[in-house]
This record gives sequence, structure tokens and C-alpha cells, in this order.
Amino acid sequence: MQDWPGLIEAYRTWLPVSNSTPVVTLREGATPLIPVPSIAERIGKGVKVYVKYDGLNPTGSFKDRGMTMAISKAKEAGCEAVICASTGNTSAAAAAYARRAGMRAFVLIPDGYVAQGKLAQALVYGAEVLAIRGNFDTALDIVREVSDQYPVTLVNSVNPYRLQGQKTAAFELIDALGDAPDWLCIPMGNAGNITAYWMGFQEYHQAGRSRTLPRMMGFQASGSAPLVNETTVTDPETIATAIRIGNPVNREKAIAARAASNGAFLDVTDEEILQAYKLLGGEEGIFCEPASAASVAGLLKRKDEVPTGATVVCVLTGNGLKDPDCAINNNDAAFHTDLNPDLGTVAKVMGF
Ligand SMILES: *Cc1c(COP(=O)(O)O)cnc(C)c1O
Repeated sequence: MQDWPGLIEAYRTWLPVSNSTPVVTLREGATPLIPVPSIAERIGKGVKVYVKYDGLNPTGSFKDRGMTMAISKAKEAGCEAVICASTGNTSAAAAAYARRAGMRAFVLIPDGYVAQGKLAQALVYGAEVLAIRGNFDTALDIVREVSDQYPVTLVNSVNPYRLQGQKTAAFELIDALGDAPDWLCIPMGNAGNITAYWMGFQEYHQAGRSRTLPRMMGFQASGSAPLVNETTVTDPETIATAIRIGNPVNREKAIAARAASNGAFLDVTDEEILQAYKLLGGEEGIFCEPASAASVAGLLKRKDEVPTGATVVCVLTGNGLKDPDCAINNNDAAFHTDLNPDLGTVAKVMGF
């Protein structure tokens, strides 16, 4: 097997890079598309369901796809520092790629609402972490002002290079399936990823690489569903912290993607998210973070509308290891503790 060069080299002709762009890469992309028969069975009708497991990117989320582009272009422009607001994964990716490029990385996070694994990453990758007493939306307002007033490049998904990098996930889906799926199920926070996927699907379609275009099915947590409810949520709440965003910056683009693809938005409760999360882990051996499970929860909620024989892809945006607290607190595992250290005890607990 040939060594994967990272997504900028793999899809260079589709991306706004030139020979003078310094490519900053951790060999992100080329993530697996995994069949999930237990989900397909729950839908029936000969439907095929896959997950695009983007939790296997170098920092454990799809944010790496956007960050390789954003940081490469920032470096090309001579920038020496980047900043982002983050529910966790953007900060992990920004920190890793910025440090690899020799830049400073400043990350603003909502104090107390970032999963442990993500915080650990930002610290280990050497970011300068600023935890504010406020939510993601407030943090984003601040970093936008900072980047306006100081020589620091903003790498949130308002940075257009982020979406350029992220659109390659749609290319990979078509390259793997031979055509676009019928449905693309995806969680929405700031709605950059759904926008990027739609861009990728359209570009490949226009170039004749796919016959069809998917319906874009976007899902939000019920306590944080500004797109579903066509509103702004001032106090978003959900166990899925990666999509705990009340005022998505890519709102208009996401709505346009829904309209153009004949798609739909729907919310799923935290309970439904956790059910899907456990199902993926317990029946498929796939550990994703709660926000990612929203795509599968949404599909199951809409299962009656899936056409017979359809191919569905659910995007698993981040790795389950990002949020160990959620995992420990939400599982149906048999966990026997405080046992005597002898064969008799162990065998008995095992049922022998
Ligand atoms: C960022 C993120 C999302 C939301 O993506 P948007 O582009 O903000 O809609 C979903 N899941 C995970 C794990 C994320 O890190």
C-alpha cells in the first residue's frame, strides 16, 4: 500500500494551494468508511448504512481536515500566531497544526465545558489556553475581535480554508462508494462541516465524479438546536459539548445546503444521542463522542423516511476517547469492582 500523503497532496487540484504553499500536515484524511449492520437492521428495507469514522484523524476529529488547510495558508501568508474559540476539538487541531508549523496557538474555551481529552490535547500540543466564564458563542465573538485588531489569524470555520479542507471528506466518500450516498447524516454545531460536505459533493458532481447528490440530513441536540428551530439559543445545553453552540456562524450556508439538496434538519434528545452512542460502541465496536452519535440518533429517528435500498452515510466527527467522563458515566457494561484477588471470586463472577 502506498503511503497516504495527507489530504492536501491527495486532493491538491481541488484545493486553493500552489507550489509555494508550505504544506503543514499530520497525514490527516483517508479515514475508514465502516459498515454498521446493526444500525441497518434497525431500519430494514435493504438499506445500507456506513459510518465515516473521522475520529481516526491525527488529533481525533474531522477538524484536522480543515486545520491542515487553514494553517498551511496562514503559514504561506507569513502569519506567526493563530487563535480560535472552541468547544474542544478545534483547539486540539489548531494547537497541533500551529505548533507543527512553528506558530503560537491561542485557544479560548468555555470554562468547564470542554471534554477532558480535548483539553489534555491542547495543553500537550503547547497551545496557550484561555478558559473564559462564558459559552462558545461568546468566545467566538471575542476571538473575532482579537483577530481584527491584532496580528493573529482566526482559524474557526469562518476561515474559508477550513471548509476547503473539510470538503475532502465528501470526495473520499464518493471515491470509496463509487457515487454519492443517498443520505448524508451529520451533526451540526457551527454548521461548517455540513457546508463543507455539500461543497465537496457539488464539486465532484459537477466534475462527473458522481452521478447523484445526497440529501443533506443535519442533526442538532434538542437543548442546542438553533438551526432546527430557526432561532438563536442563548443558553445551549447538551451532553454533546462539541455541538453546544447557540448561534452557528454558517447558518445561511447550511440552510442553503438543505434547500439545494432537498435535505432536512431535526433535533435529537440527549437520551437518543446516548442510545446511539452505546449502540455504536456495544454492537459495532465503534467508539465516537456524543456529538458524533447525533448523526446515528437522527437517522434512527427518521428511519421510516429512508427509501428502500438506500445507501446512508453517518459522519462520526470525533473519537470517543475525547470524552472519557461521558463514557464512564453512560454505559451498560458489567463492571465488577472491589473483588477479592483469587480464582474462586473471579470464576464466580464470570458465572462458572
Ligand atoms: C466541531 C464538531 C462538530 C460540529 O461541526 P460544525 O462544523 O461546527 O457543525 C460535531 N462533532 C464534533 C466531534 C466536532 O468536533
